[in-house]
Amino acid sequence: MALIVQKYGGTSVGSAERIQAVAKRVVETVKAGNDLVVVVSAMGKTTDGLVKLAHELSSQPSRREMDMLLSTGEQVTIALLSIAIQELGQPAISLTGAQAGIETEAEHTRARILEISPDRVERHLKEGKVVVVAGFQGVSATGDRDITTLGRGGSDTSAVALAAALKASACEIYTDVPGILTTDPRIVPEAKLLTEITSDEMLELASLGATVLHPRAVEIAKNYGVPLVVRSSWTDEPGTWVISPTTRSRSLTNLEVSNSVDAVEFAIDQAKIALLQVPDRAGIAGQLFGALARERVDVDLIVQSIHEGNTNDIAFTVDKHAASRAQAVAEAISPVLHDNFAPTHDSILVADDIAKVSIVGAGTIGRPGVAAQMFKTLAEAGINIQMISTSEIKVSCTIPAADCERATAALCNQFEVSVSTNDHTQPVNAPAVRGVALDLDRARLAILQVPDRPGMAAEIFGILATHNISMDAIIQSQRTRVINGVATRDIACTIAQGDAADAKRFLDAATTRLGCGAVVVDESISKVSIVGAGMVSNPGVAAQMFTALADAGINIQMISTSEIKISCVVARDRGTEAVKIIHRAFGLS
Ligand code: ADP
Ligand code: ASP
Ligand code: MG
Repeated sequence: MALIVQKYGGTSVGSAERIQAVAKRVVETVKAGNDLVVVVSAMGKTTDGLVKLAHELSSQPSRREMDMLLSTGEQVTIALLSIAIQELGQPAISLTGAQAGIETEAEHTRARILEISPDRVERHLKEGKVVVVAGFQGVSATGDRDITTLGRGGSDTSAVALAAALKASACEIYTDVPGILTTDPRIVPEAKLLTEITSDEMLELASLGATVLHPRAVEIAKNYGVPLVVRSSWTDEPGTWVISPTTRSRSLTNLEVSNSVDAVEFAIDQAKIALLQVPDRAGIAGQLFGALARERVDVDLIVQSIHEGNTNDIAFTVDKHAASRAQAVAEAISPVLHDNFAPTHDSILVADDIAKVSIVGAGTIGRPGVAAQMFKTLAEAGINIQMISTSEIKVSCTIPAADCERATAALCNQFEVSVSTNDHTQPVNAPAVRGVALDLDRARLAILQVPDRPGMAAEIFGILATHNISMDAIIQSQRTRVINGVATRDIACTIAQGDAADAKRFLDAATTRLGCGAVVVDESISKVSIVGAGMVSNPGVAAQMFTALADAGINIQMISTSEIKISCVVARDRGTEAVKIIHRAFGLS
Protein backbone atom coordinates (compact mmCIF):
# COMPACT_ATOMS: atom_id res chain seq x y z
CA MET A 1 0.00 0.00 0.00
CA ALA A 2 1.41 3.37 -1.02
CA LEU A 3 1.23 6.56 1.00
CA ILE A 4 0.44 9.60 -1.11
CA VAL A 5 0.23 13.28 -0.17
CA GLN A 6 -2.13 15.30 -2.36
CA LYS A 7 -2.40 19.09 -2.27
CA TYR A 8 -5.32 21.09 -3.65
CA GLY A 9 -4.91 24.83 -4.29
CA GLY A 10 -7.38 27.67 -3.77
CA THR A 11 -9.22 27.46 -7.09
CA SER A 12 -9.55 23.69 -6.78
CA VAL A 13 -11.48 24.06 -3.51
CA GLY A 14 -13.16 27.37 -4.45
CA SER A 15 -16.79 26.27 -3.96
CA ALA A 16 -18.90 23.49 -2.41
CA GLU A 17 -19.11 21.77 -5.84
CA ARG A 18 -15.36 21.85 -6.25
CA ILE A 19 -14.80 20.52 -2.75
CA GLN A 20 -17.17 17.70 -3.65
CA ALA A 21 -15.16 16.95 -6.78
CA VAL A 22 -11.95 16.87 -4.71
CA ALA A 23 -13.65 14.52 -2.21
CA LYS A 24 -14.49 12.15 -5.09
CA ARG A 25 -10.89 12.10 -6.31
CA VAL A 26 -9.71 11.49 -2.76
CA VAL A 27 -12.05 8.53 -2.32
CA GLU A 28 -10.98 7.08 -5.70
CA THR A 29 -7.34 7.30 -4.63
CA VAL A 30 -8.13 5.46 -1.39
CA LYS A 31 -10.15 2.81 -3.28
CA ALA A 32 -7.14 2.24 -5.52
CA GLY A 33 -5.39 1.02 -2.37
CA ASN A 34 -3.52 4.06 -1.08
CA ASP A 35 -3.13 5.76 2.27
CA LEU A 36 -3.82 9.42 1.80
CA VAL A 37 -2.90 12.72 3.41
CA VAL A 38 -4.58 15.73 1.79
CA VAL A 39 -3.25 19.27 2.20
CA VAL A 40 -5.54 22.14 1.23
CA SER A 41 -5.39 25.89 0.66
CA ALA A 42 -7.96 28.48 1.63
CA MET A 43 -10.99 28.58 -0.68
CA GLY A 44 -10.60 30.72 -3.81
CA LYS A 45 -9.28 34.18 -3.03
CA THR A 46 -10.04 33.98 0.70
CA THR A 47 -6.49 34.82 1.76
CA ASP A 48 -6.41 37.93 -0.45
CA GLY A 49 -9.75 39.00 1.03
CA LEU A 50 -8.44 38.64 4.59
CA VAL A 51 -5.28 40.61 3.76
CA LYS A 52 -7.43 43.37 2.32
CA LEU A 53 -9.63 43.50 5.43
CA ALA A 54 -6.60 43.86 7.68
CA HIS A 55 -5.22 46.67 5.51
CA GLU A 56 -8.50 48.53 5.82
CA LEU A 57 -7.73 48.74 9.54
CA SER A 58 -3.98 49.29 9.48
CA SER A 59 -1.28 50.03 6.93
CA GLN A 60 1.16 47.85 8.90
CA PRO A 61 -0.81 45.21 10.77
CA SER A 62 1.08 43.14 13.34
CA ARG A 63 2.63 40.08 11.77
CA ARG A 64 1.43 37.87 14.63
CA GLU A 65 -2.16 38.95 14.11
CA MET A 66 -1.84 38.47 10.35
CA ASP A 67 -0.89 34.83 10.98
CA MET A 68 -3.82 34.42 13.36
CA LEU A 69 -6.10 35.88 10.67
CA LEU A 70 -4.79 34.21 7.51
CA SER A 71 -4.57 30.74 9.05
CA THR A 72 -8.37 30.74 9.39
CA GLY A 73 -8.77 30.41 5.61
CA GLU A 74 -7.27 26.93 5.46
CA GLN A 75 -9.18 25.88 8.56
CA VAL A 76 -12.47 26.42 6.77
CA THR A 77 -11.39 24.18 3.90
CA ILE A 78 -10.13 21.26 6.01
CA ALA A 79 -13.42 20.99 7.86
CA LEU A 80 -15.53 21.26 4.69
CA LEU A 81 -13.44 18.74 2.78
CA SER A 82 -13.53 16.26 5.68
CA ILE A 83 -17.31 16.61 5.82
CA ALA A 84 -17.52 16.01 2.05
CA ILE A 85 -15.29 12.92 2.24
CA GLN A 86 -17.22 11.50 5.19
CA GLU A 87 -20.44 12.07 3.26
CA LEU A 88 -19.08 9.67 0.60
CA GLY A 89 -18.71 7.01 3.30
CA GLN A 90 -14.96 7.35 3.73
CA PRO A 91 -13.66 8.08 7.25
CA ALA A 92 -11.66 11.31 7.37
CA ILE A 93 -10.33 13.77 9.95
CA SER A 94 -9.20 17.36 9.65
CA LEU A 95 -6.08 18.65 11.42
CA THR A 96 -4.64 22.16 11.73
CA GLY A 97 -0.93 22.59 11.07
CA ALA A 98 -0.22 22.42 14.80
CA GLN A 99 -2.33 19.27 15.23
CA ALA A 100 -0.44 17.68 12.35
CA GLY A 101 2.83 18.36 14.21
CA ILE A 102 4.22 21.03 11.87
CA GLU A 103 6.63 23.05 14.00
CA THR A 104 8.23 26.21 12.67
CA GLU A 105 10.49 29.09 13.57
CA ALA A 106 8.79 31.93 15.46
CA GLU A 107 9.12 34.18 12.34
CA HIS A 108 5.58 35.35 11.70
CA THR A 109 4.32 35.50 8.08
CA ARG A 110 7.41 33.73 6.69
CA ALA A 111 8.20 30.91 9.08
CA ARG A 112 10.34 28.01 7.97
CA ILE A 113 9.51 24.47 9.01
CA LEU A 114 11.85 23.07 11.65
CA GLU A 115 10.34 19.69 12.30
CA ILE A 116 7.27 17.59 11.67
CA SER A 117 6.19 15.08 14.33
CA PRO A 118 4.13 12.70 12.23
CA ASP A 119 2.80 10.51 15.08
CA ARG A 120 -0.75 11.78 15.11
CA VAL A 121 -1.09 11.76 11.31
CA GLU A 122 0.30 8.20 11.24
CA ARG A 123 -2.10 7.09 13.96
CA HIS A 124 -5.15 8.35 12.04
CA LEU A 125 -3.86 6.75 8.83
CA LYS A 126 -3.60 3.43 10.68
CA GLU A 127 -7.21 3.90 11.76
CA GLY A 128 -8.09 3.93 8.05
CA LYS A 129 -8.84 7.64 7.87
CA VAL A 130 -7.95 10.16 5.24
CA VAL A 131 -6.06 12.92 7.04
CA VAL A 132 -6.90 16.43 5.80
CA VAL A 133 -4.26 18.96 6.87
CA ALA A 134 -4.40 22.76 6.71
CA GLY A 135 -1.65 24.01 4.40
CA PHE A 136 0.41 27.17 4.83
CA GLN A 137 0.39 27.06 8.65
CA GLY A 138 2.31 25.67 11.57
CA VAL A 139 3.03 26.38 15.19
CA SER A 140 6.14 28.04 16.52
CA ALA A 141 8.38 25.48 18.18
CA THR A 142 9.50 27.87 20.89
CA GLY A 143 7.93 30.45 23.20
CA ASP A 144 4.17 30.65 23.34
CA ARG A 145 3.59 28.17 20.54
CA ASP A 146 1.72 30.75 18.45
CA ILE A 147 0.23 30.01 15.05
CA THR A 148 2.64 30.85 12.22
CA THR A 149 2.29 30.90 8.44
CA LEU A 150 4.89 29.95 5.86
CA GLY A 151 4.50 32.86 3.41
CA ARG A 152 2.05 33.33 0.53
CA GLY A 153 1.70 30.24 -1.63
CA GLY A 154 3.09 28.14 1.24
CA SER A 155 0.61 25.24 1.09
CA ASP A 156 2.83 23.59 -1.53
CA THR A 157 5.62 23.66 1.03
CA SER A 158 3.39 22.12 3.74
CA ALA A 159 2.53 19.28 1.36
CA VAL A 160 6.06 18.43 0.27
CA ALA A 161 7.38 18.73 3.83
CA LEU A 162 4.70 16.30 5.04
CA ALA A 163 5.58 13.95 2.18
CA ALA A 164 9.24 14.07 3.24
CA ALA A 165 8.45 13.51 6.93
CA LEU A 166 6.03 10.65 6.22
CA LYS A 167 8.37 9.20 3.57
CA ALA A 168 5.43 9.22 1.17
CA SER A 169 5.86 7.61 -2.21
CA ALA A 170 4.74 10.79 -4.00
CA CYS A 171 3.50 14.31 -3.49
CA GLU A 172 0.83 15.37 -6.01
CA ILE A 173 0.04 19.07 -6.39
CA TYR A 174 -3.42 19.62 -7.94
CA THR A 175 -4.06 23.05 -9.42
CA ASP A 176 -5.95 25.00 -12.09
CA VAL A 177 -3.49 24.36 -14.95
CA PRO A 178 -2.55 20.99 -16.54
CA GLY A 179 0.93 21.08 -14.97
CA ILE A 180 4.08 23.18 -15.36
CA LEU A 181 4.03 25.03 -18.66
CA THR A 182 6.76 26.79 -20.63
CA THR A 183 5.44 30.05 -19.18
CA ASP A 184 2.43 31.47 -17.37
CA PRO A 185 -0.61 30.70 -19.58
CA ARG A 186 -2.22 33.92 -18.36
CA ILE A 187 0.46 35.76 -20.34
CA VAL A 188 0.94 33.34 -23.21
CA PRO A 189 -2.19 31.20 -23.72
CA GLU A 190 -0.37 28.87 -26.13
CA ALA A 191 2.32 27.95 -23.56
CA LYS A 192 3.18 24.24 -23.77
CA LEU A 193 2.89 21.62 -21.06
CA LEU A 194 6.20 20.10 -19.91
CA THR A 195 6.29 16.40 -19.15
CA GLU A 196 9.22 16.89 -16.79
CA ILE A 197 11.57 19.51 -15.42
CA THR A 198 14.62 19.21 -13.15
CA SER A 199 14.31 20.49 -9.61
CA ASP A 200 17.13 22.99 -10.25
CA GLU A 201 15.29 24.44 -13.24
CA MET A 202 12.03 24.58 -11.30
CA LEU A 203 13.73 26.27 -8.33
CA GLU A 204 14.89 29.03 -10.66
CA LEU A 205 11.55 29.37 -12.46
CA ALA A 206 9.59 29.40 -9.21
CA SER A 207 11.74 32.09 -7.68
CA LEU A 208 11.80 34.14 -10.88
CA GLY A 209 8.03 34.48 -10.94
CA ALA A 210 6.38 31.16 -11.89
CA THR A 211 3.83 30.94 -9.08
CA VAL A 212 2.75 27.42 -9.98
CA LEU A 213 5.01 26.00 -7.23
CA HIS A 214 6.34 27.59 -4.06
CA PRO A 215 10.16 27.59 -4.41
CA ARG A 216 10.59 26.21 -0.91
CA ALA A 217 8.45 23.20 -1.84
CA VAL A 218 10.85 22.46 -4.70
CA GLU A 219 13.80 22.89 -2.39
CA ILE A 220 12.44 20.28 0.05
CA ALA A 221 11.61 17.90 -2.82
CA LYS A 222 15.17 18.26 -4.08
CA ASN A 223 16.82 17.86 -0.68
CA TYR A 224 14.78 14.82 0.37
CA GLY A 225 14.25 13.27 -3.05
CA VAL A 226 10.43 13.50 -2.82
CA PRO A 227 8.79 12.48 -6.12
CA LEU A 228 6.75 15.57 -7.00
CA VAL A 229 4.13 16.01 -9.72
CA VAL A 230 1.92 18.97 -10.68
CA ARG A 231 -1.46 18.10 -12.24
CA SER A 232 -4.82 19.51 -13.12
CA SER A 233 -7.62 19.17 -10.57
CA TRP A 234 -10.10 18.83 -13.40
CA THR A 235 -8.61 15.97 -15.46
CA ASP A 236 -6.74 12.69 -15.11
CA GLU A 237 -3.81 13.79 -17.30
CA PRO A 238 -0.35 12.85 -16.04
CA GLY A 239 0.88 16.44 -15.51
CA THR A 240 4.54 17.40 -14.99
CA TRP A 241 7.11 15.57 -12.87
CA VAL A 242 9.79 17.52 -11.06
CA ILE A 243 12.93 15.39 -11.26
CA SER A 244 15.25 15.45 -8.26
CA PRO A 245 18.64 13.83 -7.98
CA THR A 246 18.69 10.73 -5.80
CA THR A 247 19.78 12.06 -2.44
CA ARG A 248 21.58 10.48 0.43
CA SER A 249 19.21 10.20 3.37
CA ARG A 250 19.08 13.42 5.27
CA SER A 251 18.00 14.23 8.81
CA LEU A 252 14.47 15.52 9.16
CA THR A 253 15.42 17.80 12.02
CA ASN A 254 15.67 21.45 11.04
CA LEU A 255 13.89 20.43 7.86
CA GLU A 256 14.00 23.81 6.14
CA VAL A 257 16.93 25.41 7.89
CA SER A 258 19.79 22.92 7.85
CA ASN A 259 22.51 22.56 5.24
CA SER A 260 21.92 25.66 3.17
CA VAL A 261 25.26 25.02 1.50
CA ASP A 262 26.12 21.58 0.14
CA ALA A 263 29.48 22.25 -1.47
CA VAL A 264 32.03 24.79 -2.62
CA GLU A 265 33.00 24.84 -6.30
CA PHE A 266 35.75 26.66 -8.07
CA ALA A 267 36.83 27.21 -11.64
CA ILE A 268 40.28 28.52 -12.50
CA ASP A 269 41.55 29.66 -15.88
CA GLN A 270 38.78 32.19 -16.37
CA ALA A 271 39.01 35.55 -18.07
CA LYS A 272 36.81 38.59 -17.67
CA ILE A 273 36.11 41.05 -20.44
CA ALA A 274 34.31 44.29 -19.73
CA LEU A 275 33.02 46.89 -22.15
CA LEU A 276 32.71 50.22 -20.45
CA GLN A 277 30.39 53.13 -21.08
CA VAL A 278 28.35 51.63 -23.87
CA PRO A 279 25.22 53.65 -24.68
CA ASP A 280 22.05 52.73 -22.81
CA ARG A 281 19.80 51.78 -25.69
CA ALA A 282 18.06 48.72 -27.04
CA GLY A 283 20.18 46.35 -29.12
CA ILE A 284 23.62 46.72 -27.58
CA ALA A 285 23.72 43.40 -25.71
CA GLY A 286 22.20 41.61 -28.70
CA GLN A 287 24.91 42.92 -31.02
CA LEU A 288 27.75 42.06 -28.67
CA PHE A 289 26.65 38.55 -27.71
CA GLY A 290 25.47 37.85 -31.26
CA ALA A 291 28.99 38.58 -32.50
CA LEU A 292 30.49 36.38 -29.77
CA ALA A 293 28.12 33.53 -30.60
CA ARG A 294 29.03 33.75 -34.31
CA GLU A 295 32.66 33.30 -33.28
CA ARG A 296 31.57 30.32 -31.13
CA VAL A 297 32.81 31.97 -27.94
CA ASP A 298 31.13 30.23 -25.02
CA VAL A 299 30.22 32.90 -22.49
CA ASP A 300 29.74 31.92 -18.86
CA LEU A 301 28.60 34.77 -16.58
CA ILE A 302 27.19 38.02 -17.94
CA VAL A 303 26.48 41.13 -15.92
CA GLN A 304 25.33 44.51 -17.05
CA SER A 305 25.33 47.19 -14.46
CA ILE A 306 23.09 50.14 -13.81
CA HIS A 307 23.78 53.13 -15.93
CA GLU A 308 25.53 56.14 -14.67
CA GLY A 309 24.89 59.08 -16.90
CA ASN A 310 23.53 57.42 -20.00
CA THR A 311 25.87 54.47 -20.31
CA ASN A 312 26.20 50.86 -19.19
CA ASP A 313 29.05 48.52 -18.40
CA ILE A 314 28.73 44.99 -19.73
CA ALA A 315 31.07 42.33 -18.41
CA PHE A 316 31.30 38.63 -19.13
CA THR A 317 33.57 35.72 -18.35
CA VAL A 318 34.94 33.11 -20.71
CA ASP A 319 37.42 30.27 -20.50
CA LYS A 320 40.97 31.62 -20.59
CA HIS A 321 41.72 29.91 -23.91
CA ALA A 322 38.86 31.85 -25.52
CA ALA A 323 39.93 35.19 -24.03
CA SER A 324 41.88 36.51 -26.99
CA ARG A 325 39.09 35.59 -29.42
CA ALA A 326 36.54 37.26 -27.16
CA GLN A 327 38.73 40.32 -26.84
CA ALA A 328 39.08 40.56 -30.61
CA VAL A 329 35.30 40.41 -31.01
CA ALA A 330 34.84 43.07 -28.33
CA GLU A 331 37.43 45.33 -29.94
CA ALA A 332 35.90 44.95 -33.37
CA ILE A 333 32.40 45.73 -32.20
CA SER A 334 33.22 48.40 -29.66
CA PRO A 335 33.32 51.31 -32.16
CA VAL A 336 29.91 50.21 -33.49
CA LEU A 337 28.45 50.08 -30.01
CA HIS A 338 30.01 53.42 -29.19
CA ASP A 339 28.31 55.03 -32.21
CA ASN A 340 31.61 55.08 -34.07
CA PHE A 341 33.35 57.31 -31.60
CA ALA A 342 36.80 55.83 -31.27
CA PRO A 343 36.89 54.02 -27.93
CA THR A 344 39.04 55.69 -25.35
CA HIS A 345 42.00 53.62 -24.26
CA ASP A 346 40.17 52.04 -21.35
CA SER A 347 36.78 51.26 -22.87
CA ILE A 348 37.59 47.54 -22.83
CA LEU A 349 39.03 45.86 -19.78
CA VAL A 350 40.51 42.38 -19.98
CA ALA A 351 41.56 40.38 -16.94
CA ASP A 352 42.78 36.90 -17.76
CA ASP A 353 43.84 35.96 -14.28
CA ILE A 354 40.58 35.40 -12.52
CA ALA A 355 38.84 32.48 -10.86
CA LYS A 356 35.24 31.76 -9.98
CA VAL A 357 34.31 30.42 -6.55
CA SER A 358 30.78 29.33 -5.77
CA ILE A 359 28.76 28.03 -2.87
CA VAL A 360 26.16 25.53 -3.98
CA GLY A 361 22.98 24.38 -2.25
CA ALA A 362 19.25 24.64 -2.77
CA GLY A 363 17.82 27.74 -1.21
CA THR A 364 20.86 29.93 -0.73
CA ILE A 365 18.88 32.96 -1.86
CA GLY A 366 15.78 32.49 0.26
CA ARG A 367 18.26 32.82 3.11
CA PRO A 368 19.94 36.17 2.58
CA GLY A 369 22.34 35.46 5.44
CA VAL A 370 24.09 32.76 3.42
CA ALA A 371 25.25 35.03 0.58
CA ALA A 372 26.17 37.73 3.10
CA GLN A 373 28.23 35.15 5.00
CA MET A 374 30.06 34.18 1.81
CA PHE A 375 30.96 37.82 1.11
CA LYS A 376 32.07 38.25 4.74
CA THR A 377 34.25 35.15 4.64
CA LEU A 378 36.00 36.38 1.49
CA ALA A 379 36.39 39.86 3.01
CA GLU A 380 37.96 38.45 6.15
CA ALA A 381 40.46 36.66 3.94
CA GLY A 382 41.23 40.05 2.34
CA ILE A 383 39.86 38.97 -1.04
CA ASN A 384 38.22 41.58 -3.27
CA ILE A 385 35.13 40.41 -5.16
CA GLN A 386 35.00 41.46 -8.83
CA MET A 387 31.70 40.08 -10.04
CA ILE A 388 28.81 38.44 -8.22
CA SER A 389 26.29 36.12 -9.79
CA THR A 390 23.41 34.63 -7.86
CA SER A 391 20.83 31.97 -8.53
CA GLU A 392 18.52 29.93 -6.34
CA ILE A 393 21.07 27.18 -6.05
CA LYS A 394 24.35 29.03 -6.20
CA VAL A 395 26.21 32.22 -5.35
CA SER A 396 29.34 32.76 -7.46
CA CYS A 397 32.02 35.41 -7.12
CA THR A 398 34.88 36.10 -9.49
CA ILE A 399 38.09 36.90 -7.68
CA PRO A 400 41.81 37.20 -8.56
CA ALA A 401 43.12 33.74 -9.57
CA ALA A 402 45.93 34.02 -7.04
CA ASP A 403 43.34 34.08 -4.23
CA CYS A 404 41.41 31.03 -5.39
CA GLU A 405 42.99 28.45 -3.13
CA ARG A 406 42.62 30.61 -0.04
CA ALA A 407 39.05 31.53 -0.93
CA THR A 408 38.05 27.90 -1.41
CA ALA A 409 39.65 26.84 1.87
CA ALA A 410 38.01 29.69 3.80
CA LEU A 411 34.57 28.91 2.36
CA CYS A 412 34.85 25.16 3.00
CA ASN A 413 35.84 25.95 6.55
CA GLN A 414 33.04 28.46 7.07
CA PHE A 415 30.24 26.28 5.70
CA GLU A 416 31.73 22.97 6.91
CA VAL A 417 31.60 21.36 3.49
CA SER A 418 34.12 20.06 1.01
CA VAL A 419 35.02 21.05 -2.52
CA SER A 420 32.92 19.44 -5.19
CA THR A 421 34.39 18.77 -8.57
CA ASN A 422 32.94 21.26 -10.98
CA ASP A 423 30.66 18.72 -12.58
CA HIS A 424 28.34 20.26 -15.11
CA THR A 425 26.96 17.08 -16.54
CA GLN A 426 23.48 18.00 -17.66
CA PRO A 427 20.52 15.70 -17.86
CA VAL A 428 20.42 14.09 -21.28
CA ASN A 429 18.52 16.16 -23.82
CA ALA A 430 18.04 19.07 -21.42
CA PRO A 431 16.70 21.85 -23.61
CA ALA A 432 18.59 25.15 -23.75
CA VAL A 433 15.44 26.92 -22.64
CA ARG A 434 12.86 25.04 -20.59
CA GLY A 435 10.72 27.96 -19.55
CA VAL A 436 10.24 31.72 -19.35
CA ALA A 437 9.17 33.65 -16.26
CA LEU A 438 8.07 37.17 -15.46
CA ASP A 439 8.46 38.82 -12.09
CA LEU A 440 6.50 42.03 -11.61
CA ASP A 441 7.16 42.08 -7.91
CA ARG A 442 10.78 43.32 -8.02
CA ALA A 443 12.36 46.68 -7.45
CA ARG A 444 15.89 47.70 -8.32
CA LEU A 445 18.06 48.90 -5.48
CA ALA A 446 21.29 50.71 -6.26
CA ILE A 447 23.95 51.85 -3.85
CA LEU A 448 26.13 54.42 -5.58
CA GLN A 449 29.81 55.10 -5.06
CA VAL A 450 30.68 52.16 -2.86
CA PRO A 451 34.40 52.20 -1.89
CA ASP A 452 36.18 49.49 -3.89
CA ARG A 453 37.70 47.40 -1.12
CA PRO A 454 37.15 43.96 0.37
CA GLY A 455 34.23 43.78 2.75
CA MET A 456 31.83 46.26 1.21
CA ALA A 457 29.49 43.67 -0.33
CA ALA A 458 29.56 41.83 2.99
CA GLU A 459 28.62 45.00 4.90
CA ILE A 460 25.81 46.00 2.57
CA PHE A 461 24.21 42.60 2.14
CA GLY A 462 24.86 41.82 5.79
CA ILE A 463 22.61 44.76 6.71
CA LEU A 464 19.83 43.46 4.45
CA ALA A 465 20.29 39.90 5.70
CA THR A 466 19.91 40.98 9.33
CA HIS A 467 16.47 42.19 8.39
CA ASN A 468 15.72 39.04 6.42
CA ILE A 469 15.65 40.88 3.08
CA SER A 470 16.67 38.67 0.16
CA MET A 471 18.39 40.14 -2.86
CA ASP A 472 19.29 38.71 -6.22
CA ALA A 473 20.87 39.76 -9.48
CA ILE A 474 23.65 41.45 -7.51
CA ILE A 475 25.85 43.46 -9.85
CA GLN A 476 28.87 45.68 -9.32
CA SER A 477 29.80 48.22 -11.96
CA GLN A 478 33.04 47.47 -13.78
CA ARG A 479 34.20 51.05 -13.87
CA THR A 480 35.61 52.65 -10.80
CA ARG A 481 35.01 56.30 -10.18
CA VAL A 482 37.34 58.24 -7.93
CA ILE A 483 35.41 60.26 -5.36
CA ASN A 484 37.50 62.31 -2.91
CA GLY A 485 40.53 60.21 -3.69
CA VAL A 486 38.74 56.86 -3.15
CA ALA A 487 38.01 54.46 -6.01
CA THR A 488 34.30 53.57 -5.91
CA ARG A 489 31.89 51.28 -7.75
CA ASP A 490 28.12 51.20 -7.90
CA ILE A 491 26.37 48.08 -6.61
CA ALA A 492 22.86 47.15 -7.70
CA CYS A 493 20.53 44.27 -6.98
CA THR A 494 16.87 43.41 -7.28
CA ILE A 495 14.68 42.86 -4.22
CA ALA A 496 10.98 42.27 -3.53
CA GLN A 497 8.97 45.47 -3.92
CA GLY A 498 7.53 44.99 -0.46
CA ASP A 499 11.05 45.15 0.99
CA ALA A 500 12.24 48.18 -1.02
CA ALA A 501 11.26 50.94 1.40
CA ASP A 502 12.73 49.10 4.39
CA ALA A 503 15.91 48.24 2.51
CA LYS A 504 16.42 51.87 1.56
CA ARG A 505 15.82 53.01 5.11
CA PHE A 506 18.30 50.52 6.61
CA LEU A 507 20.97 51.30 4.01
CA ASP A 508 20.43 55.08 4.19
CA ALA A 509 21.21 54.84 7.88
CA ALA A 510 24.55 53.18 7.10
CA THR A 511 25.87 55.05 4.05
CA THR A 512 27.80 57.67 6.03
CA ARG A 513 29.53 55.02 8.14
CA LEU A 514 30.34 52.94 5.05
CA GLY A 515 31.41 55.95 2.99
CA CYS A 516 28.90 55.19 0.22
CA GLY A 517 26.84 57.59 -1.88
CA ALA A 518 23.08 57.63 -2.38
CA VAL A 519 20.71 54.65 -2.21
CA VAL A 520 18.31 54.68 -5.15
CA VAL A 521 15.16 52.56 -5.55
CA ASP A 522 13.39 52.07 -8.87
CA GLU A 523 10.06 50.27 -8.74
CA SER A 524 9.15 50.72 -12.38
CA ILE A 525 10.97 47.55 -13.45
CA SER A 526 10.14 43.97 -14.24
CA LYS A 527 12.37 40.97 -14.61
CA VAL A 528 12.12 38.49 -17.46
CA SER A 529 14.11 35.29 -17.26
CA ILE A 530 14.79 32.18 -19.26
CA VAL A 531 15.73 28.93 -17.54
CA GLY A 532 17.20 25.74 -19.00
CA ALA A 533 19.81 23.22 -17.90
CA GLY A 534 20.99 22.78 -21.50
CA MET A 535 21.99 26.44 -21.76
CA VAL A 536 25.58 25.68 -20.76
CA SER A 537 26.43 23.98 -24.03
CA ASN A 538 24.57 26.42 -26.29
CA PRO A 539 26.62 29.58 -26.83
CA GLY A 540 23.98 31.49 -28.77
CA VAL A 541 21.19 31.47 -26.19
CA ALA A 542 21.96 34.79 -24.52
CA ALA A 543 22.38 36.52 -27.88
CA GLN A 544 19.04 35.14 -29.03
CA MET A 545 17.25 36.49 -25.98
CA PHE A 546 18.90 39.92 -26.19
CA THR A 547 18.28 40.19 -29.94
CA ALA A 548 14.61 39.29 -29.56
CA LEU A 549 14.21 42.11 -27.03
CA ALA A 550 16.19 44.50 -29.22
CA ASP A 551 14.06 43.75 -32.29
CA ALA A 552 11.03 44.84 -30.27
CA GLY A 553 12.83 48.00 -29.14
CA ILE A 554 12.91 46.85 -25.51
CA ASN A 555 15.89 48.26 -23.63
CA ILE A 556 17.69 45.95 -21.20
CA GLN A 557 18.53 47.77 -17.99
CA MET A 558 20.32 45.00 -16.14
CA ILE A 559 21.55 41.52 -17.03
CA SER A 560 22.48 38.75 -14.65
CA THR A 561 23.07 35.11 -15.38
CA SER A 562 23.90 31.78 -13.80
CA GLU A 563 24.71 28.48 -15.53
CA ILE A 564 21.05 27.72 -16.07
CA LYS A 565 19.31 31.09 -16.27
CA ILE A 566 19.51 34.52 -17.86
CA SER A 567 17.55 37.40 -16.32
CA CYS A 568 17.00 40.83 -17.83
CA VAL A 569 15.52 43.80 -16.06
CA VAL A 570 13.31 45.81 -18.41
CA ALA A 571 10.79 48.62 -17.94
CA ARG A 572 7.78 47.43 -15.97
CA ASP A 573 5.28 48.30 -18.70
CA ARG A 574 7.18 46.17 -21.25
CA GLY A 575 7.47 43.03 -19.10
CA THR A 576 4.47 41.11 -20.43
CA GLU A 577 5.36 41.92 -24.01
CA ALA A 578 8.95 40.82 -23.35
CA VAL A 579 7.79 37.40 -22.12
CA LYS A 580 5.61 36.90 -25.20
CA ILE A 581 8.44 37.83 -27.54
CA ILE A 582 11.02 35.64 -25.84
CA HIS A 583 8.64 32.70 -25.60
CA ARG A 584 8.09 32.93 -29.34
CA ALA A 585 11.79 33.51 -30.14
CA PHE A 586 12.72 30.17 -28.57
CA GLY A 587 9.95 28.33 -30.38
CA LEU A 588 8.15 27.35 -27.19
CA SER A 589 4.62 28.17 -28.31
P1 ADP B 1 -2.96 27.13 -6.49
O1 ADP B 1 -4.02 27.96 -5.85
O2 ADP B 1 -3.48 25.84 -7.03
O3 ADP B 1 -1.77 26.96 -5.62
P2 ADP B 1 -1.54 29.11 -8.01
O4 ADP B 1 -2.35 30.26 -8.51
O5 ADP B 1 -0.69 29.32 -6.82
O6 ADP B 1 -2.54 27.91 -7.80
O7 ADP B 1 -0.64 28.53 -9.19
C1 ADP B 1 -1.20 28.19 -10.43
C2 ADP B 1 -1.05 29.34 -11.40
O8 ADP B 1 0.33 29.57 -11.67
C3 ADP B 1 -1.62 29.09 -12.77
O9 ADP B 1 -2.99 29.41 -12.82
C4 ADP B 1 -0.78 29.96 -13.69
O10 ADP B 1 -1.46 31.13 -14.06
C5 ADP B 1 0.42 30.33 -12.85
N1 ADP B 1 1.70 30.04 -13.52
C6 ADP B 1 2.76 30.89 -13.61
N2 ADP B 1 3.75 30.34 -14.29
C7 ADP B 1 3.36 29.10 -14.65
C8 ADP B 1 3.98 28.04 -15.37
N3 ADP B 1 5.23 28.14 -15.85
N4 ADP B 1 3.27 26.91 -15.55
C9 ADP B 1 2.03 26.79 -15.06
N5 ADP B 1 1.40 27.75 -14.37
C10 ADP B 1 2.04 28.91 -14.16
N1 ASP C 1 -3.79 30.44 1.15
C1 ASP C 1 -2.41 30.83 1.11
C2 ASP C 1 -2.18 31.89 0.03
O1 ASP C 1 -3.12 32.27 -0.66
C3 ASP C 1 -1.49 29.67 0.93
C4 ASP C 1 -1.64 28.90 -0.38
O2 ASP C 1 -2.71 28.93 -0.98
O3 ASP C 1 -0.70 28.20 -0.76
O4 ASP C 1 -1.10 32.35 -0.12
MG1 MG D 1 -0.07 28.14 -5.18
